[in-house]
Amino acid sequence: MQDRDLYQRILGIESPWYVESVELKLPDGEIHVHLAHQKLASWPCPECGADSKLHDHQPERQWRHLDTCQYQTILHAEPPRSECSEHGVRVVKLPWAEPMGRFTALFEALAIEWLKAASQKAVAEQMGLSWDEIHGIMERAVKRGLERRKAEPVSHLGVDEKAFRKGHNYLTLVNDLTGSRVLYVAEDRKQSSLDGFWPTLTKEQIDGIEAVAMDMWDPYVNSVREHVPEADSKIVFDKFHIAQHLGQGVDQVRRKENKTLRAAGDDRLAGTRYDWLRNPAAMEPKDRREFAELRKSGLKTARAWALKETAMAVYGYTYERPARKHFRWWYNWAVRSRLPPMIEVAGMMKRRFENIITYLRHRITNAGSESINAKIQWVKYTARGFRNKQNFIHAIYFHCGGLDLAPRSH
Ligand SMILES: [Zn+2]
Repeated sequence: MQDRDLYQRILGIESPWYVESVELKLPDGEIHVHLAHQKLASWPCPECGADSKLHDHQPERQWRHLDTCQYQTILHAEPPRSECSEHGVRVVKLPWAEPMGRFTALFEALAIEWLKAASQKAVAEQMGLSWDEIHGIMERAVKRGLERRKAEPVSHLGVDEKAFRKGHNYLTLVNDLTGSRVLYVAEDRKQSSLDGFWPTLTKEQIDGIEAVAMDMWDPYVNSVREHVPEADSKIVFDKFHIAQHLGQGVDQVRRKENKTLRAAGDDRLAGTRYDWLRNPAAMEPKDRREFAELRKSGLKTARAWALKETAMAVYGYTYERPARKHFRWWYNWAVRSRLPPMIEVAGMMKRRFENIITYLRHRITNAGSESINAKIQWVKYTARGFRNKQNFIHAIYFHCGGLDLAPRSH
């Protein structure tokens, strides 16, 4: 008798439900709590809440609940089914679990809280759950969170690609740069990958989009053009992606020149690859002095480097007119440089320039997603057990979606 009262209080079970019996299977490390309900004339329909007559009971089901002093605690009950005049025969809402759940809401809430901070492996071990159960809890949490998401304004977006495992296996991510959260994840990096995002927004949200940062990647460009009004004034090619192209140009020049120089016994460029990509201001004084010598050397690599630095100065302008003038001047210099890799990057930048200069108006880059990226790295690192992409996608939403994940009991 005392047992029953105690468990009723611990579980927070309320009328019409009560604890009928408690069975201690101590050798198995389990406690089984059997629930029953008072006879009720009517039950609320789970769909509309209307008083409905009891139709029958489902066979007994079990729910894993929070452990009691290291004993796995399992609830048992036969869920009643009501018969609503409008919705027919339905299983009523149970106060301790969501429909179809195999865990109580409290158990699942604890697992979710824990998963936010610890690896899946640690939570699985501590709570005695399988991988599938862990993934199921995460998947349900994400589904819940996405359904609860409100149509808030998302004025500044970042479209980013993420490599999944090695090789050409990508995910497309859409980040809310203001809210620092992932809004959408899709497989691949095709136009269709991004196309799936827009229907998740309301028309007001789409109209409220002011700018979208992205790599120079036509499938993304096309998707934004097809779905966002006045897209051409809103697409901002990511500054760091531009810098990366310029850096690759410098590196190609360096590699070729290094070969030529070494053939002549000159190894000034050997091992300098990363020096040309670094910010000299961040170097040790000694390295900086050495690098300054190289820069003044008149080597082709030094000219390519100067081209890169000068191109990036576009981003230092406040106003468009002088920035355009700077770029025209730079472009003429670049195409006369006789450095094919730099000429190629210059041509690409010229073609793409209208969506490079939009930076001055919107001032966004995908670096705004850096805290998200750091988290995704953590997700990748702590979850090497991803057997498929879908689990990885759920984990990204789970950790980076800014979602309300916890189940609610009734
Ligand atoms: Zn109903």
